[in-house]
Amino acid sequence: MAIGPGTKERLMDVVSSCRNEILDFTKALIQVPTENPPGSSYRDCVAVVEAKLEEIGLESSVLEVPAGRNQNPRNGRIQSESAYCLMSFYGTGPRTLYFHGHYDVVPAATPRQFKPLLRGDRLFGRGSADMKGGLAAMIYAVKAIKACKLRLNGRIGLAIVPDEETGGLRGSHALAASGKLGKDGIGMFTAEPTGGAIWNACRGAISLRVTVKGKPSHVGLHFWGVNSFEKMLGVANKLMELKQRVESRKTAFKIEPDEARNSILLIGGECQGGASFNTVPAQCCFTVDRRINPEEDLGAEKERLLELFDRFRKDGTEVEVETLQEARPAGFSEHDPVARALSTSIEAVTGKAPSFEMCPGLLETRFYAEQGVPAFAYGPGQLTAAHAPDESVALEDICACAAVYTLAAAELLA
Ligand SMILES: [Zn+2]
Repeated sequence: MAIGPGTKERLMDVVSSCRNEILDFTKALIQVPTENPPGSSYRDCVAVVEAKLEEIGLESSVLEVPAGRNQNPRNGRIQSESAYCLMSFYGTGPRTLYFHGHYDVVPAATPRQFKPLLRGDRLFGRGSADMKGGLAAMIYAVKAIKACKLRLNGRIGLAIVPDEETGGLRGSHALAASGKLGKDGIGMFTAEPTGGAIWNACRGAISLRVTVKGKPSHVGLHFWGVNSFEKMLGVANKLMELKQRVESRKTAFKIEPDEARNSILLIGGECQGGASFNTVPAQCCFTVDRRINPEEDLGAEKERLLELFDRFRKDGTEVEVETLQEARPAGFSEHDPVARALSTSIEAVTGKAPSFEMCPGLLETRFYAEQGVPAFAYGPGQLTAAHAPDESVALEDICACAAVYTLAAAELLA
C-alpha cells in the first residue's frame, strides 16, 4: 500500500530537523561504556534510553535479568551486573513492526573510544556503528512518525537489548523466554551496520570445545601412559573428512566472494594440550566452530557432529564435549513484503536500490525467525568499522537510516 501524498516529505523533513538531536543522543549513548564482555554499565545506558523515550512521550517497560544467571560461555567470565531489556510501543492494535537493537559494545581498544568525537560528518567512538548510531536512528524514526501524527494500522515496537555481542543470553534470548520477543510481529528491522545492503539471512552456529583425555607418564616410561595428542589426531582426522563434505554445500543466499557461500567447519580455533616435551600429554583440547547455512538444519547438523565423538567413545577414547554456543540460522526471501518495503524505502531516501546479502556472522534476526517474524538487518555504518579501534559512522548515514525506517513503517503499517 502506498503512503499518502506529502507524507514522505514530512517524515524526511522531521528527521533532518532532528539532525543535531540525533548527534547528541548518539554521543550520550557512546559515553556509557557498555562493554561486553563483561557486560558493564547496562543500567546507566538503559536510563539514557528511557529518558529519551520519556522526552518523546513514549512509555517503556524494562525486563531485568539478574546477574550470574548466565555465564558468558565464550570466556567463562561471570557477569556481575544485571542486564536490562527495554521495550516501548507507539501506535495501537496488535500488528507490530519491531525496531530491534542492542546497546552492548565490544571492549574498547582505548578508553578514549568512550569520548565521542565528531570530525567533519564522521562520529568516532566505540559503538558508533555497532550499534548506538543505529539505536538513535530507530528511536528518532519513531519520534518522526509520532510528530507527523501518522495513523498506523498497528504499532511500532522498540526492542532494545544487551548481550548481543556474546550470544544474546540475557538479551534477546531472555526476552524470547518471557514471551515478549516478536509478539504479534509483522516484521522486524535491526540496525546492524550493513554498509548500505540489506542482510536477509545469517548462518547458525554450533560451537564446541572438545577435550580428549589420556594418561600422563614420563617419556622414558611412555608405555604406561595414554597419549591424548595421538588420540586427538584420530578425532581431528575424522572431523577433516566431515569438513570436506560440509564445505561442498553452498548457500543460495547471496554473499561474496563465492567461497563464502560454502558451509563452514572451523577446527582448532583454540587448541591446547600437554604439559612438557618429555611427558605423555594427559589431555588435549580444541574448538570446533560449525557455521551452518540457512538451508541446513541445526538439529541434524549437531547430531552429525556429536555422533562422530560418540563413535570414538565406543572405541574407548575418553572425549568430553562442551557446547559454547548454539544458534539457529535465519533466511528470508528478498521478495517478502517486509523486505520490499525496506528496499523501496532505502531507494527513496538514498536514490539507490540496495543489494540483498547474507550476513557473514550471527544476527539477532534468528530470534524473530523462530517466531515466524520476517526479520532483516539494515543500519548505518560499515561492518569493517564495527569492532575496529577507530570505529566510526557518518552522521548522514544515521539520519538516512532513520528516514528509511519511517518510510518503511509508514508503508507496512498504512
Ligand atoms: Zn551489532
